[in-house]
Amino acid sequence: MKTSPLTYRSVNIKNSRLFFNPCHQTLYSLEENCTFCKIIKGEESSGFLYQDESLVVFKDIRPHAPVHVLIVTREHIRSPNDLKDKDKDIVLKMIVKAKEMAKEHSVTASGYGLVFDVERGGGQIIFHLHLHLLGGW
Ligand SMILES: [Zn+2]
Ligand SMILES: [Zn+2]
Repeated sequence: MKTSPLTYRSVNIKNSRLFFNPCHQTLYSLEENCTFCKIIKGEESSGFLYQDESLVVFKDIRPHAPVHVLIVTREHIRSPNDLKDKDKDIVLKMIVKAKEMAKEHSVTASGYGLVFDVERGGGQIIFHLHLHLLGGW
């Protein structure tokens, strides 16, 4: 049987889409030149205080408080402005993890701040979603 040009073309489109998807996924989850993506990939030395399949926790290299840790998503999400409906769980998980880290650092009773900085005007320096835990004063 002879394949019609139309069928041939649609198969081609389908294949290229299959090829495109995994590339897009990689670019989305690990952005080049993103400091946090590099830390998460292990390209820059930084001891993790905690890590699992969706989050990593490490100390801020320029601490603004005696206890200053960052709760960071493995997925590259640019800022809270880029959060989607599907990200609800991860945001909740970040806050619960921050609470646990506060306990580990013995600041539960004394109190602490949880800060999401949003874009430059909100003090965001690294454009990869993270939650600051600040305390120990
Ligand atoms: Zn990143
Ligand atoms: Zn920050």
